Amino acid sequence: MDFAEQVKSTVRIEDVVGEVVRLRKSGAYRFMGLCPFHSEKTPSFTVHATLQIYKCFSCGEAGDVFSFVMKTQGVGFFEALKLLAERHGIPMPKRSQYADEDSRKRGALFQLHELAQENFRANLLGAAGETARNYLARRGLSPDTIERFGLGYSDRSGRALLRLFEQRDFSGSQMEESGLAGRRQDGSLYDRFRNRLMFPIHNESGKIIGFGGRALADDDQPKYLNSPETPIYKKSHVLYNLHRAKDAIRKEDRVILVEGYMDAIGVSAAGFAWVVASCGTALTAQHVQALKRHTSRIFVNFDPDAPGANAAERSINTLLAEGMQARMVELDGELDPDEYCRERGPAAYQARLDGAKGYFHWLADRARNKYDVHTQEGIVGVLQALLPAVQQIADPLERDAMAGDVAGYIGVERGLVLDSFRKAVATRQDKPLERPKAVLRPDERMVLRTLFLDPENAGGTIEELKSIETLGRLPSRQIFQAIFAAAADGGGVTFEAVNARLEDAGRQLLAEAVLREDAAGSREEAVAAIASLRRADTEDRRKQVKLRIKELERSGNLEEALRLYAELQRMEREAKGAQ
Ligand SMILES: [Zn+2]
Repeated sequence: MDFAEQVKSTVRIEDVVGEVVRLRKSGAYRFMGLCPFHSEKTPSFTVHATLQIYKCFSCGEAGDVFSFVMKTQGVGFFEALKLLAERHGIPMPKRSQYADEDSRKRGALFQLHELAQENFRANLLGAAGETARNYLARRGLSPDTIERFGLGYSDRSGRALLRLFEQRDFSGSQMEESGLAGRRQDGSLYDRFRNRLMFPIHNESGKIIGFGGRALADDDQPKYLNSPETPIYKKSHVLYNLHRAKDAIRKEDRVILVEGYMDAIGVSAAGFAWVVASCGTALTAQHVQALKRHTSRIFVNFDPDAPGANAAERSINTLLAEGMQARMVELDGELDPDEYCRERGPAAYQARLDGAKGYFHWLADRARNKYDVHTQEGIVGVLQALLPAVQQIADPLERDAMAGDVAGYIGVERGLVLDSFRKAVATRQDKPLERPKAVLRPDERMVLRTLFLDPENAGGTIEELKSIETLGRLPSRQIFQAIFAAAADGGGVTFEAVNARLEDAGRQLLAEAVLREDAAGSREEAVAAIASLRRADTEDRRKQVKLRIKELERSGNLEEALRLYAELQRMEREAKGAQ
C-alpha cells in the first residue's frame, strides 16, 4: 500500500475535520457542521466517515482528508501528509520521496524556531536571564505559567542564535528567511531579538512559527518586536494561544479576545483558559474564521485606552461580517485584562464577563459620549456611528429589534432610527450565496448512492447499467464511465477506485451524489431508480425515432418512414405494457 493510502486508512476524517469544525452526527456515517471555507449560519458542510470525503453544499468545496488539511492549515500535500502521520503515530518512510522542495524548506524553518526556543528558555533560567526573571516576578507569573507558555529570554550578544545555527550547518539565507536573523547593509547577519523577553507563537497544530519579544530596557524600541512574515508565519492568520485554548473554547462554547501576550497569559492563568490574543495586528476575516471553527460567541476585551477602544470598534464589523455574536467586556479602573485579573481576582473578572454588553449598546454608549443627543446634529452623529455595524446584520428582524433598542437608549423616536437603518442597509452590497441546485437527477443519484454506500442493495448489476444508453447523456456520465472502467479492470467498483479515475469536476459530482442525503436508499428505491432510468432510455429512443421519421418524410422517403412508424407504435405499446 502506498504511504498516503496507509495514512488515509488509519486516520478518521471526522476526527481531523472535527478538530476545526464542530460536527454533529446526521445519519449512520454522515456528519454535518458549519463550513470552514465560507461564512454560513446553517450547516451545509458534510463529512462521510466511510467514504473519507467532505463536501459543502453551499460553496461547493469538496475533497479528502489531505485536501482538508492543506486548505485549512495552508500547507502543501507533503506537509499535510507529514502532519497527519505524526499526529497519528504513523512512522514516515525513510525514503526522501515524501519530502518535496517546499516542505524541506518549511521543515528547516520549523527546526530553526525549535533551536531558538531551546536557547531562549535556557537563557531565562541562566545567569543572563535575571532581569527577565525579575520582570516576570513583578508581573506575578508563577514558574508554572512561565513553563506552560514557554517564555524565554534572548541574550544581549546579538550573535547567540547565529552561532547556534552555524554549528548546525544552516545557511545564511535560511537564517534570514526564518526572520530570526536580520541582514545589515554590509551583508552581515545579526540576531533580530536582543535582550528581550520572548513569547513563542504557535500555529494551530502547536508548532512554533514565530516570536514576540518584549523590550526589558526602558530605552529599547519598539516595546514589542515581532517576527516578520515568513513562509510559516502569516500574521493575518495566526492568533496567539489558540492551539492551547481551542479545547477550552469548544467546551465553553465561547472565546475571550484580548490584545497582548501578557493579557492572554494573565487571563489564562486566572483560570480562563479560553482566551486568545490578536497581538498588535488588526483583526482579520481569517482570524475570525479560525475562531469560528470552535465557537461563534466572542467576548472582546481590549485595553481601556483610546487605541484599544478604537481597535475594538473596528473589530466589531469584522466579527459581525463573519456572523459572530460579540459582547464587549469593560474593566473599571483603567486596568488591562492581565492587571485586572491580578489585582481584582478571577471572581471579579468573571463578573465583568457576565456583565459584558452586547456590541450594540457598547457602540451606542461610545457614540453617546461623543455627541450631544439633545441636538439634531448629535442624533445624526450617533446614528452615523452605528451604521457600519447595522450594515453587517443580515437578519431584518434582528435589525428592527436593534432600531427599537437604540431609539429607547438614545431617547429618539423609533421611526427615525428605523428609517436611517433601512437606508443604510439598502446601500450595502449584498452578496448572498446562491445555494447551488442539485445538478444530478434523483434517479441517477439514487443509483450511485446505493452502488457505493450499500452495494448489496444496488438495484441492478453493472452489466444492466451498461445497457442503459441514457447514462451516456446524463451529467454523471463520466462517473458511470469510470465505474465501467473500474469493473473492466476487475479491481472492484469501490468509491476509492472510481474517485481515483475522475477529474476534479467528476469528483465534485460524485461527492454530491453520495453525500446529499443521509443514507443509501432501500432496495425498492434502488430498483425503482433503475426502472426510471430505463423509462428515460426508451423515451429517448422514441424521440430519436420521431425525429428520424420527420427527416424521412421531408426527404420523401415515405416507405422507410412508414416502417419506422410501425416500430414507434411497437415501442409505445411496450412502454405502456411495462407500466
Ligand atoms: Zn462552504
